[in-house]
Amino acid sequence: MPETLAELTTLRVGGPATEIVHASTEQALVGAVRSADAAGSPLLLVAGGSNLVVSDGGFDGTVVRVATRGIHASTDEPDAAVCGGVTVTVAAGEPWEPFVEHAVEQGWVGIEALSGIPGSVGATPVQNVGAYGQEVADTVASVRCWDRVDDVQRTFAAADCGFGYRTSRFKQDPARYVVLDVTFQFRTGRLSAPVRYAELARTLGVQVGARAPMRDVREAVLTLRRAKGMVLDAADHDTWSAGSFFTNPLLAPDAADRLPQDAPRWAQPDGSVKTSAAWLIEHSGFSRGYGSRRAALSGKHTLAITNRGGASTADLLDLAAEIQRGVHRTYGVWLVNEPVLVGCDLPAVDESTTVR
Ligand SMILES: Cc1cc2nc3c(=O)[nH]c(=O)nc-3n(C[C@H](O)[C@H](O)[C@H](O)COP(=O)(O)OP(=O)(O)OC[C@H]3O[C@@H](n4cnc5c(N)ncnc54)[C@H](O)[C@@H]3O)c2cc1C
Repeated sequence: MPETLAELTTLRVGGPATEIVHASTEQALVGAVRSADAAGSPLLLVAGGSNLVVSDGGFDGTVVRVATRGIHASTDEPDAAVCGGVTVTVAAGEPWEPFVEHAVEQGWVGIEALSGIPGSVGATPVQNVGAYGQEVADTVASVRCWDRVDDVQRTFAAADCGFGYRTSRFKQDPARYVVLDVTFQFRTGRLSAPVRYAELARTLGVQVGARAPMRDVREAVLTLRRAKGMVLDAADHDTWSAGSFFTNPLLAPDAADRLPQDAPRWAQPDGSVKTSAAWLIEHSGFSRGYGSRRAALSGKHTLAITNRGGASTADLLDLAAEIQRGVHRTYGVWLVNEPVLVGCDLPAVDESTTVR
C-alpha cells in the first residue's frame, strides 16, 4: 500500500497521509467517507491523482482512494430505432481514458475529443473536464452523489450540476459531494459530434462544425495531445504534471481590450472574453522548459508545470507563483490554478483582473 501522496499523484509530489483507505465498492466508499466524517477526520478523495497538488507535509487525515468499477449501458426505450441513443452509467472509479476508447468502439458519440485525458470518470463532472471543443457537460445526463452534509444520496440532473468552464457545483462545494457514478446520454453512430476546435478540424482536414469518423477524431486528438506532452508517459518528464496548471482567464471586455492586438480572444455567452493562458505565459517571457532542474515548464507546452524528477511541491508552487507574478506584471492578468491544491497555496488571486 502506498504511504505518500507522491505515489498517488501524476505530479509525483506530496507527503504522507495519516491513513489511506482503498474503496473498490460503493459500500466501502460511502462507509469510509461516513466513518471519517463521524470521527471528525479531514477527508481527501483521490482517484487518478491527475488534478491534485498535495503539500510536502502530506495530509493529516483520511485519504480515500476511489476505485469502484462498473459500466452499464441501456439502449433508449421505447423507440430506440428512432432515438438511436444509449444511456450509460459508469462507476466513479472507472478510469476515464479506457472508457473513452470503449465508447468510440461502441459508437457512443460525444466524448471522442476527450481521448487521452488521465484520471477517473467520477472526477470528470467535478471540473467539467474539457478539451478540443468538447466537455463532459455535453453528454452528462445526471450525477449520483453521496451528500456528506445531509448524510443521504442525491442525484443531480445535468442542469442542476452548475457546469461552467472547468467548474461545477461539486468543485464549488468540495467538502460536500462524493460522486458515486455518472450517467451519460450518447447519440449512437460512426461519425463524431461536430468538430468545434479549429486545430483538430485542420488536423482532420474538415471544416469546423463538420463531423468525421469517430476513430479518426480519437486518433487525431491522441496525436495532438502526445505532441504537447498531454498523454501520460512515465518515461517522459514532460507528462509528470497535472495537465494545464492554469485555466484560461475570463476577462471583462475592457480588460480584454487592453491586451495586445494579437492576443487570442474568444467571446463567451455571458459577455466575458476568454483569452489563452499559454499565450500570456509565453509572451511574458516564460518559454517551454523554463525553470530549474527540478521543476520546469514542459518542454512541449507552456501551460504544464512539470516535475523533472526530484521536485518538491514547494519547488512547483514557487515556479507557479513566479509565472503568476510575471504575467500580472506584463498584462495585468492574474492566472488562476486549475488543479486542486491540498494543504498548500499560491498567492491570493487579484480578483480585479478576472471575471471570476
Ligand atoms: C497529462 C494530463 C493531461 C490533462 N488534460 C486535461 C484536459 O485536457 N482537460 C481537463 O479538463 N483536464 C485535464 N487534466 C486534469 C485531470 O486529468 C482531470 O481533471 C481529471 O478529471 C482528474 O481526475 P482524477 O481521477 O485524476 O482526479 P483526482 O486528481 O484524483 O482528484 C481531483 C479532484 O476531484 C476530487 N475527486 C476525485 N474523485 C472524486 C469523486 N468520486 N467525487 C468527488 N470528488 C472527487 C478530488 O478530491 C480532487 O479535489 C490533465 C491532467 C494531466 C496529468
